[in-house]
Formats: sequence, structure tokens, C-alpha cells
Amino acid sequence: MNTLKKTLSLDPDNWNDLRALGHRMVDDMFDYLQQIGEQPAWKAPTDDVKAHLAQPLPLEGQPAEAVYAEFLRYILPYNNGNIHPRFFSWVQTTGTPLGMLASGMTPNVTIGDHAAMYVDKQVIDWCKALMNFPENASGMLVSGATMANLTSLLVARHTADRDRIRRYGVRGTDRPLVLYASAETHSCVQKAVEVMGLGSEALRKVPVNASYQLDDTALQSMIEADLAAGLHPFCVVGNAGTVNTGAIDPLDAIADLCQQYNLWFHVDGAFGALAKLVPAYAHSLAAIERADSVAFDLHKWLSMPYEVGCALIRNADLHRDAFAMTPTYLARHERGLAGGPDSLSNYGIELSRGFKALKVWMSFKTFGVDRLGAVIAQNIEQAQYLAQRINDEPQLELLAPAPMNIVCYRFNPRDGRDTDALNALNKEILMRLHEQGIATPSYTLLGGRYAIRVAHVNHRTQLADLDILVEGSIRIGGELIR
Ligand SMILES: *Cc1c(COP(=O)(O)O)cnc(C)c1O
Repeated sequence: MNTLKKTLSLDPDNWNDLRALGHRMVDDMFDYLQQIGEQPAWKAPTDDVKAHLAQPLPLEGQPAEAVYAEFLRYILPYNNGNIHPRFFSWVQTTGTPLGMLASGMTPNVTIGDHAAMYVDKQVIDWCKALMNFPENASGMLVSGATMANLTSLLVARHTADRDRIRRYGVRGTDRPLVLYASAETHSCVQKAVEVMGLGSEALRKVPVNASYQLDDTALQSMIEADLAAGLHPFCVVGNAGTVNTGAIDPLDAIADLCQQYNLWFHVDGAFGALAKLVPAYAHSLAAIERADSVAFDLHKWLSMPYEVGCALIRNADLHRDAFAMTPTYLARHERGLAGGPDSLSNYGIELSRGFKALKVWMSFKTFGVDRLGAVIAQNIEQAQYLAQRINDEPQLELLAPAPMNIVCYRFNPRDGRDTDALNALNKEILMRLHEQGIATPSYTLLGGRYAIRVAHVNHRTQLADLDILVEGSIRIGGELIR
């Protein structure tokens, strides 16, 4: 007898059951997002949670409903909290409810003639328009500004010695390559320089002024000194919004020096480049339009759900030159699925890529860039309000200028405590702000002084949320010194 065995598949036996569960998931997620402000800003994962998430590899499956119940109990309530109106840590997105479709389609957005490739291209074209880059520039959606900086710097490195780098690597260059960035530059740039095989010493850290902006006179002297020493300066990284304080480097002066010395001008604009959408910042960010490349995130100030960042390269040929590689199994055909656009593997490190572009496409179309820009303007206004409130409170002290959306402050009772004591006090205040679920600012050291740091890219925040943070800081500080 023919005992035909049922084919194994990972699809459900009963689509209706799974559909019902799916509807519940969507409903639960919308309830969660709608009511998040009523929850504490942070809740520590309990020991029970940690134990539950340290179990042996499951060999047998269980019903999806049961797994979902565990998700609701052990995972969802202990979220990072970056979706909360009083989340101000690092520089993290607040997300929007529109990012939930791409995994259902799950196309590989690298190669082939299918819609996702054109959505990706559409989004890159919109990114060029945002940054006022020429239409014939190229670009790549990547996981974030870290990868966008690396991608851009790889093109810069390739361009520095086009005939040799790809073949012989950095040991094939006749003069050692060096590049420049301010001392306030994000650590991912140093990581990129290390990954590229240049070594961290190749990254020259240019001093900053009192406003944490790169000192362009010092930059020029450093370039001259390196040239005199027989090195090969090839690139300067300018900041459009530093991670610590939101400082914007003198981008025009950097662009001038890059022109004079024939250096690649790259801008790390992870969040700050998006302030281009706010008229008051258009002038100080205009020189992004002179850059050879710019890196920025869509998952910071454009509120996209993780992950998505963008690298734009002015010269598409140089971009392709730095990465292109076409094995037989990736060759493009005239027609059929293997027709379509140039494989995106020719423009970056990755081969397989997810459909990051869909959430961006949906968000841009749904909200419109005017509204996204208005949120950015609102965040800057709110940050300025916070800075003013801190200035008005005798027990609080601003620790750096707040030129944009980052506010660094500390509690200072001005009772003769030295720096170490104030640092310890403010670190304790920060941890208690988190533990009490009040708000989640982050932290940094500025000139050795511990700063509570509000990096504000949160579209859910109201002014009252900032008042709660100010009052919480003063109350906890007062309790600690009593
Ligand atoms: C966040 C940030 C980065 C790194 O971006 P990721 O998206 O986290 O990889 C780089 N530079 C600056 C200025 C940043 O704020």
C-alpha cells in the first residue's frame, strides 16, 4: 500500500488558529504602545526572568500560544523602554507602529527583479533628497551609522590608493594612510579604522574648542605635520552632531581643507544630519552637501524601528569600485528573476539583506517629511526648554552648551564637594532615576565631570515629562546629600 507521508512544513496545520493568534499579537502590541506612558520608564529584568531566558535548547516544540504567553510574561514587560516618553538614553529610536510588515514578505533585498529592490532604491533616492546629494550619487541602507561610517570609510580608503588597496591591502600602500576626526567623534569611527586594518594610531584625534567642535587650525597643522613625516593623509571625518553634546563641527572649514589637500570629506551625521530639516540648522549643516560621503541613521531621529541607517556616496563609480565582485552565481541576466537592478552586494559588505526599506517607505509616505521634520524641531525646542529649566534650578548645572537636542547636566549642591564626590553622587542619581522608573537619561564624562545626558529623539515626550525628570533629579539629589 502506498503510505503517503504528509510533507513536513513550518507553516501551521490550522491557519485560522494562527490567524487568531496573530490578531491578538497586533492588538496587544497596539495596546502596549498606546499605554506605554503609564508604565515605569524602566523595569529591571528580575532573576526569575533571567533564569527563564537561560534554558536548554528546546528539542521539542510547543503550541505557539504557549510560547506567546511566555513572551508576554518574561520579555515584553522588561523592554529597553526606548519607546517610553521619558526615555532619553544614548541616542535611540522611539519607533513607530508602521514597521510590522517586512518579515511576512521576507524578500532578500540584494539581487533580482522584484519590488523590494525598487523600494530600496526609492528610499535611497529619498535619502539623497534629504541630504541634498545629487541624483547620480549612490547609497546603501545598512544596519546603522556604525556600518554606514564603515562603508563610507572603506570607499575613502579604496579611493586613496585605487590601484593597490583591494589587491594588496593596506600593507601594499607606499605611505601609511592616516585620517582625522575630532576627539569627540563616536567610537564607531575608531572601530572602523581598526577593522580596515589601519590601526587606531592612524586615526588622528583633533582637539576641540570649548563648544566641543573640531579645531580646524589644529587640523591643518596635523595634516602638515603628517605630510612632512611622509605619511598619506586621506580623509577627514566631520561631525554633524557629536554623540556627547550634539556639537556640529565647522563643516565648511573642513570641506575647504579637504579640497586644499585632496582628502576625502566624510560626515558622521548619525542623528544630527537630520536637523537639516529644521530651517534654523540648515546653514550650519549646509556643508554636508560638499561631503564625499555622509552616514546617518533612520533609526534615531526619523524614529524608524530598528535597524536602519544609510551611507550616501557622492561618486557612485568609486562606491561600486570599492566593493564590486561578481561570481558566476550572482551574474545578472537579461530577463527573469535574475534580471533587474545591479546587485546591491556590489555596494557594501553584506550579501543577504532584509527588507529594511519597507518601514522607511511606509513611514515617509504615511507621515510625510514635513511632519518628521516638525518632530525633530519639537525635540530641539523641548531640549532647549530642558536646558533652560536646568539653568533656572540653583541645584542643577549645565555641563556643556546644548546646541541641539542633547543636554548634559549634573546635580550640584555647591557645598564644596570635589569632582569625584559630585561624579559619584550624580552616577547614583542616574541609577535611581532608572530604578524608580522615573526616566532613563544616559551619561557621559565631560572634562572628567560625570554628566547626566539627555539625548532627545523621542516623539512621545511632552514638556511635562521633562519636568518630571528635573524634579526627580532634584528630589533624589536632595535625599542623597541629606
Ligand atoms: C549612534 C551614533 C553612531 C552609531 O550609530 P549606530 O546606529 O548605533 O550604529 C555613530 N555616530 C554618532 C554621532 C552616533 O550618535
